[in-house]
Amino acid sequence: MFCKNCGNPMDPNAAVCVRCGYAKGAGASYCPNCGTPTAPGAAVCLKCGAAVTTAVPGDKSKLAAGLLGIFLGSLGIHNFYLGYTGKAVAQLLITVLTCGVCAIVSEVWGLIEGIMILTGQIDKDANGMALTD
Ligand SMILES: [Zn+2]
Ligand SMILES: [Zn+2]
Repeated sequence: MFCKNCGNPMDPNAAVCVRCGYAKGAGASYCPNCGTPTAPGAAVCLKCGAAVTTAVPGDKSKLAAGLLGIFLGSLGIHNFYLGYTGKAVAQLLITVLTCGVCAIVSEVWGLIEGIMILTGQIDKDANGMALTD
């Protein structure tokens, strides 16, 4: 297999690329199957047809997620942003279904999560990718 970040051939058992240090499967620039550079946003490799994940790891900003949680936590926006859709929908529904009556619940919930994100207690998105500073 090939490193998806730099296209370097890598040992399938290796956890990280020895050349660029990216985790196995991280990156979105090269086909993991044949090592051909892939177009940004492409779902499959044009050469071999292998599925190429388009998600770029580590592209979520800690600051943005934290501020979204603090200001829009009652709508679960920060969790939508980080990919925690289940939690996000719960927060959104608490607010919407009660016509805002219980918005304080999801607001406090989002506020706490926003602070946890900013202080590094929540430091990963739903895909386990580290948040960037
Ligand atoms: Zn690499
Ligand atoms: Zn390929």
